[in-house]
Amino acid sequence: MKLLIMGPPGAGKGTQAEALVKELRITHISTGDMFRAAIKEGTEMGKKAKEYMDKGELVPDEVVVGMVKDRLSQPDCAGGFLLDGFPRTVPQAEALDETLQSMGIALDGVINIAVPRERLMERLTGRRICRSCGASYHVIFNPPREAGKCNTCGGELYQRSDDNEVAVANRLDVYEAQTQPLIEYYAGQGLLKNINGDQEIKKVLTDVLASLK
Ligand SMILES: [Zn+2]
Repeated sequence: MKLLIMGPPGAGKGTQAEALVKELRITHISTGDMFRAAIKEGTEMGKKAKEYMDKGELVPDEVVVGMVKDRLSQPDCAGGFLLDGFPRTVPQAEALDETLQSMGIALDGVINIAVPRERLMERLTGRRICRSCGASYHVIFNPPREAGKCNTCGGELYQRSDDNEVAVANRLDVYEAQTQPLIEYYAGQGLLKNINGDQEIKKVLTDVLASLK
């Protein structure tokens, strides 16, 4: 299976990706991890990417696509892969299509983990951190025994500034603006598998697997 997975922040994409590659015995290609590894190992593409990052510039699509191509050429991808974190825009998707075509690879599906915006807000703004020991809680999913107090050390719990409503809403806006056209792009190719991510983790995985049959 040659797959791509996408989903907004807070949708549980990472969890599903991990479960899915285990279930299907395919290679997980997280472009974020791949990027860090390529730069660390000093590959040709890694060096190029680092040049841009050092200048504080965005890494151009062709460099990212080049790294993805290098990665997909490795033997562990022959039996299938799950691409995670890329593409994020339609031009990137078009560049990826070209690359895949040149490699004789066709995608089997694009999994989109969809969760209603208000549920994402709830998930993403509920995080609380202990000021003393850094332990992480969630007001709904992993609440401390006593409100506002760390279970382990009794320290005060606080909300990080990037977890507040305005910051989270902004993050979701950016994601939606970028990704909506991408969803339409893959729907147009008949590849899109829309999955309800607002369910138990196991049920989401069951739905993903069913959509691929
Ligand atoms: Zn603590």
